[in-house]
Amino acid sequence: MGKLLLLIVLAALAVWRLWPLPAAVIPVGEPLPEAQAPAGLRFALIKTGVATTLEAMVVADGSLFRPTRIGHIAVLVEHPQGRLLFDGGLGTQVDQQFGEMSFWAKPIFAFKHVNPAVTQLQAAGIKAPPRIFLSHAHWDHASALVDFPKAEIWLPAAERETAVNGHPPAFLPSQLNCPATRWQPFAFDGPAYAGYPASLGLFGDGSVVLLPLPGHTAGSTGLLLSLADGRRYFFVGDTVWHHLGVDRPAPKFSLSSLIVDADREAVWQAVLKLRGLRDANPGLVIVPAHDAGAHDTLGYFPKFVGETPP
Ligand SMILES: [Zn+2]
Repeated sequence: MGKLLLLIVLAALAVWRLWPLPAAVIPVGEPLPEAQAPAGLRFALIKTGVATTLEAMVVADGSLFRPTRIGHIAVLVEHPQGRLLFDGGLGTQVDQQFGEMSFWAKPIFAFKHVNPAVTQLQAAGIKAPPRIFLSHAHWDHASALVDFPKAEIWLPAAERETAVNGHPPAFLPSQLNCPATRWQPFAFDGPAYAGYPASLGLFGDGSVVLLPLPGHTAGSTGLLLSLADGRRYFFVGDTVWHHLGVDRPAPKFSLSSLIVDADREAVWQAVLKLRGLRDANPGLVIVPAHDAGAHDTLGYFPKFVGETPP
């Protein structure tokens, strides 16, 4: 496996040198609509596993020599009207599930220090949230669904369709074909929002809003969270893997993108749109699903970001 990995890195090096970055025409972003976020709305990142790779493997013009840390997280959102998870991270069955992974993909997607969300919630005496929303149904986001058999699993209908017909290394059947899973496919039937053509608000106060980010997968979804003190966070799934993707802006490394992105041009347009949105809203914090450095700055469960409920 070591030799294979070396070959992949060398091929990556060659292609990385030859492949020009796409043109970056950043669209003018719109201001975020006002939100009436309630006191007591807060979130916590549950760190369920980690990995290490090279920066060049996650962002197109990244360093070939600088290591970067990958995080696998679940986001616990507590709103006075309800609790939810956004993504589930790596679950209790992830080692068995990973057995379905294509042999060549195992070294690329290797992970360590698994500490599932359900285990951490139980240890803290917190009841399992009744709803889980997925940024998308790739294996490292859907692994924990089997740990929450009573939860409704919310995702766009297109994502559900893609996922149940998908195959490794992106989608793992053992995670997605459990008859007991309570799928809750949804449509973005809310109004246009900050340049996005549609939205889905969850609590009627604009504090927790789902937005379509198709590209990485057909039904990729972002979660825009607004806290009572005005801070705003956009959890963007795998649209970018690293904050440098938005900062520079730059797409994922080309070979990685070929493996994981369903529609590379759509992903790139989504990245540029994120950059335009942040330029128009300088306080907006964009949180990629796997950027452990960005996660570190927010801290991890049991630490929450936002107000403690009264
Ligand atoms: Zn993904």
